[in-house]
Amino acid sequence: MNQKILVIGSANTDMVIKTKHFPLPGETVLGGRFMMNPGGKGANQAIAAARLGGQITFITKIGQDIFGRQALQQFLKEGVDASFVISDPDNPSGVALITVDEKGENTIVVAPGSNGTLNPADVAKAETVFKEAEIILMQLEIPLVTVQFAANLAAQYGKKVILNPAPAAPLPDDLYRCLAILTPNRSEAEALSGVTITNLATAEQAARKLLEKGIKHVVITLGTEGAFVFDQSIAKLIPVTPVVAVDTTAAGDVFNGALAVALSEGLALDKAVEFANQAAAISVTRMGAQASAPFRKELQGLILK
Ligand code: AMP
Repeated sequence: MNQKILVIGSANTDMVIKTKHFPLPGETVLGGRFMMNPGGKGANQAIAAARLGGQITFITKIGQDIFGRQALQQFLKEGVDASFVISDPDNPSGVALITVDEKGENTIVVAPGSNGTLNPADVAKAETVFKEAEIILMQLEIPLVTVQFAANLAAQYGKKVILNPAPAAPLPDDLYRCLAILTPNRSEAEALSGVTITNLATAEQAARKLLEKGIKHVVITLGTEGAFVFDQSIAKLIPVTPVVAVDTTAAGDVFNGALAVALSEGLALDKAVEFANQAAAISVTRMGAQASAPFRKELQGLILK
């Protein structure tokens, strides 16, 4: 029986317009095609994990608007337990306004909306889920006090907390001590450790600094190179199969969702990272965030117990 996974985090709607050039202040530009995509790191990770066969409960806060309703429908369609999706009567759902120019560069403005009001009391209402789930997966697009509260509660019940520290933000020492696994990408690991990562030796140096803060395991994702796993007994780069990348949006989210699923099935950390690498590699060969997340049948044969 696979263990349950609780994801706590953001849900956004990404509104994307392609443009020949970015507008200057005061300028109006006629853009190209408009796309509206479900996003937010929390929702991306919850859905990626559900597609890979994880038993997922998602705690998030949505507004009472069309975007919130669409997000909720999406969670249900993807098989995510949405019993603890909270509705905020006072704030709009989170949205990101994104423009992409012909060179593929983008500008993004995020209005966190209801994501910014997901508070410890909301999480406390789901205390029963902390008892049932073995793995709690979080990111940093909700208030840090809420992340800290959830990490404390999880630690109290002896549950495994995975924190994907994205977007990068300084973390209190108390939080580090509640974490089983921290999963920064290269720039987040640099920001948190103060070490510039240029090779394996510096990746290890950064990971060691983070481990010293009281985390049990550190996994630094390194894009095309795969991921570096570090703890008391292992210091190893787990390479990823090379692919032709089309869109790396949400690669890290798919990696984290997949890592949680593999661990929920009892895999050792290095094997779970292999599985996460493969899932993330598939996602970069396809466009989109949630849309690019692979289904379990696409990874059949890749669980290596
Ligand atoms: P990143 O956030 O860029 O470190 O990427 C997260 C994970 O996605 C990496 O650890 C890889 O597993 C995977 N990944 C990202 N970019 C690529 C790529 N170009 N080719 C294959 N896998 C990738």
